[in-house]
Amino acid sequence: RAKRKAAGYALFDPELDQKDKRHLTLMSDLVEAIERNGLSLHYHPRVDLSDDRCTHCEALLRWQHPEHGMIPPDEFIVSAELNNLIHQLTRWVLRTALAQLKVWLDQGIDMNISVNVSARNLVDHRFADDLNAMLLDHDVPASRLEIEITESALIVDPVRALESLEAMRAYGVSIAVDDFGTGYSSMSYLKRLPVHVLKIDKSFVQDLLRDESDATLVRSVIDLSHSFGLQAVAEGVEDAATLEALKAMNCDQAQGFHYCRPLPAADFEVWLRLRG
Ligand code: C2E
Ligand code: CA
Ligand code: CA
Ligand code: CA
Repeated sequence: RAKRKAAGYALFDPELDQKDKRHLTLMSDLVEAIERNGLSLHYHPRVDLSDDRCTHCEALLRWQHPEHGMIPPDEFIVSAELNNLIHQLTRWVLRTALAQLKVWLDQGIDMNISVNVSARNLVDHRFADDLNAMLLDHDVPASRLEIEITESALIVDPVRALESLEAMRAYGVSIAVDDFGTGYSSMSYLKRLPVHVLKIDKSFVQDLLRDESDATLVRSVIDLSHSFGLQAVAEGVEDAATLEALKAMNCDQAQGFHYCRPLPAADFEVWLRLRG
């Protein structure tokens, strides 16, 4: 890699050249998708383990590409982060999620939404103000919105990240740490940052019943959450047995294919109605 980087070498590497071209084409397609309705959101329920109620969901981005079909978010978000496209992208996600939330609230559906925000957004000094303006614009209470960030977002530029998070807390948005347990972080931020929720990464949840060290880790994160006054949310719950184990560990909420796949808004409404 170091060799490729040396003095213009990359420019003449046919393989890399191809990859760069693909990347550039994909990114210009993404601009087009943002501008012309090529993106959508799916909603994934988060269920309260004490009463089995669902009043929270996570908005997940979907891109239906005209030639390549459905492109998973993992495959284009990293690219969008490398460009400055992530700013436009996250704004689109927030506007769409808030508009949907407003519709649900007006229908009398008791719902809260989580949106994934990347490190790049968090260190943007305009982000917190823009988000506040969007909330006012859509006439949605800030307390109904949760921002999911990863631990890496806190490490890249902790000072800026803290400023954004403090501003958001001041007007009432909640903060969840996503993929908890996968980062290198010292966790010392838990006492400094306005965090409300720890989401236990699905890689630990999925093997909970088979791997004793995963079970220990999950139990520890749940206890850690509670000792800091936070909620613990398990993601990647795929079966009833795992759900029962999480209940026994006093986990607060669960998310996963056990309930359903992430669904388009209309299907999500049907899912909610069917479970009463
Ligand atoms: P994430 O934030 O950790 O989201 C959870 C991912 O796990 C989703 O994949 C979801 O479909 C999947 N999942 C949930 N429950 C289960 C389960 O029981 N089993 C399995 N196997 N998977 C489950 P998805 O939608 O493909 O998203 C992948 C990642 O892309 C997300 O991981 C997130 O990091 C990123 N992403 C998605 N939407 C957005 C967005 O709007 N903005 C940003 N910045 N990132 C996003
Ligand atoms: Ca997430
Ligand atoms: Ca996650
Ligand atoms: Ca993830």
